[in-house]
Amino acid sequence: MSEPGSHFLRTIIANDLKEGRHDGRVQTRFPPEPNGYLHIGHAKSICLNFGLAQEFGGLCNLRFDDTNPAKEDVEYVDAIKEDVRWLGFSWGDREYYASDYFENLYRLALNLIESGNAYVCDLTADEIRSTRGTLTSPGQESPFRNRSVRENLDLFTRMRAGEFAAGSKVLRAKIDMSSPNLNMRDPVLYRVLFAPHHRTGDSWCLYPMYDFAHPLSDALESITHSVCTLEFEDHRPLYDWLVERLFPENLRPRQYEFARLDMTHTVMSKRKLRELVENNVVSGWDDPRMPTISGLRRRGYSASAIRTFCENIGVARANSLVDVAMLENCAREELNLAAKRVMAVLEPLKLVITNYPPDQYEKLIADNNPEDPSMGTREIDFGRELYIEQTDFMEDPPNKFFRLKPGGEVRLKHAYIIRCDHVVKDADGVVIEVHCSYDPDSKTGGATSGRKVKGTLHWVACNHALPAEIRLYDYLYSETQDVDTATSGLLTANLTDYNPTSLICHQGWVEQSLLDATPEDRFQFLRQGYFCLDSQASALAGSLDTGGSLVFNRIVGLRDSYRKQGNR
Ligand code: ATP
Ligand code: MG
Repeated sequence: MSEPGSHFLRTIIANDLKEGRHDGRVQTRFPPEPNGYLHIGHAKSICLNFGLAQEFGGLCNLRFDDTNPAKEDVEYVDAIKEDVRWLGFSWGDREYYASDYFENLYRLALNLIESGNAYVCDLTADEIRSTRGTLTSPGQESPFRNRSVRENLDLFTRMRAGEFAAGSKVLRAKIDMSSPNLNMRDPVLYRVLFAPHHRTGDSWCLYPMYDFAHPLSDALESITHSVCTLEFEDHRPLYDWLVERLFPENLRPRQYEFARLDMTHTVMSKRKLRELVENNVVSGWDDPRMPTISGLRRRGYSASAIRTFCENIGVARANSLVDVAMLENCAREELNLAAKRVMAVLEPLKLVITNYPPDQYEKLIADNNPEDPSMGTREIDFGRELYIEQTDFMEDPPNKFFRLKPGGEVRLKHAYIIRCDHVVKDADGVVIEVHCSYDPDSKTGGATSGRKVKGTLHWVACNHALPAEIRLYDYLYSETQDVDTATSGLLTANLTDYNPTSLICHQGWVEQSLLDATPEDRFQFLRQGYFCLDSQASALAGSLDTGGSLVFNRIVGLRDSYRKQGNR
């Protein structure tokens, strides 16, 4: 992990500024293809591109790389904008679309033809592939490679006019069929495709390839540093070849590659994430188990926790696999300081305090965060009938069980010490109520509260608690991948087996103060982890009377060690 402030891109930009390159400007871009929702890998790229621009007094553009009409949609454009904004970055008025450059790109292609650097080729896609050669043998030149400039201009113009069938003709760069870099063996720059585009409609039946559109869009936007992931390293010679032929030196962007983010237990590709949505493995792109930005947001992650994570993982030139626990830790550290402590019972067991008067209630004082006294206190209701966790009572416990057992004593958090006197069972012998007596002199903070017992339990008061569905999440994939160091850090395995217990819902109870919670509030449920109100599923508090219920998502557990028990 690199120290903040020390990665190679910062060094390069600082150096370029010192040497007056690019007229002393820094301009980056984040170029998503609107064919899915953004994931945490994109967050790394967003933080890097917008972050570098901010740091060096430059600008960062948002550019939709929408050159492939088949897979793209405005739903994705809107979601991407929302996610970038939510992460805390602003592109000002620089919202661009590669499709807005279709006319400019077409003119640049004509320039290339005129300078003898591109030709129209009639080979089929299969023929182009089979004449491309291999890593060890050169490719063969196309029989159409030496068409005259005039013929090429005529054919390309007619390709645009829709005179040729899809797949019958392409425009190729005229570079070198024996180049050791396969991307330089006369790559395809344009193809004929009769498909409507979500922005340009039916205006075009000729679409540029990514390798043509991307560098030239960068140059058209006066980008200085075009930062992308390592897969594009082998495309850089083509990137340079194109901008060198079509733009003057001071307007030529330069491409730099960094390692993509991959995370344990996580798939990180829009295509695979779309499969999860389409196969109903998850409830949508924003399912709280998804590694999408919208999923993490709904799960309860804050933008600042994600930004901290992106800074902490650093920017390197070699692929590696980041432990998802690092992301969880970023959330946990922030929540530990900021989250209000409250009580909620996930799997309720009724507890009756037999020596507490029926119909009597009292208000107790609870601190909101022992880490931060400035967060103050609140009142909680205590009464004769409470809920505790089923797992906090055992009729026949092993040694060292410091929770409640027959004849044993525990403290109820913020309240009294109680002793278990007897249990009530149903016809099957299952304990359905625990009857206790309380020590009125043992009130927390009271004058005679000095008496110590080993266990402290959380609880809520039956007649005051609010019904809540409490959702616990685990990884979508219980297995994880490995990185193969021999193949420069490519992942060795694809994740395929879904974890059947990635979502567990409990019908429980939360203390009354949560009536005013909003999805932006984050809480620690004592002993259970950090939670937030689900922004999609929660009934409005007003509908609780009519059978509605609050829905809470667990963001992360309290400690990393919980993970080892499959309990995040
Ligand atoms: P996916 O395979 O998930 O669809 P992509 O690279 O095709 O990803 P784009 O929309 O083209 O998705 O990506 C926009 C930007 O985000 C690109 O600059 C890309 O390099 C970057 N990016 C994509 N995935 C990651 C990742 N895992 N880590 C870091 N940056 C990424
Ligand atoms: Mg892509």
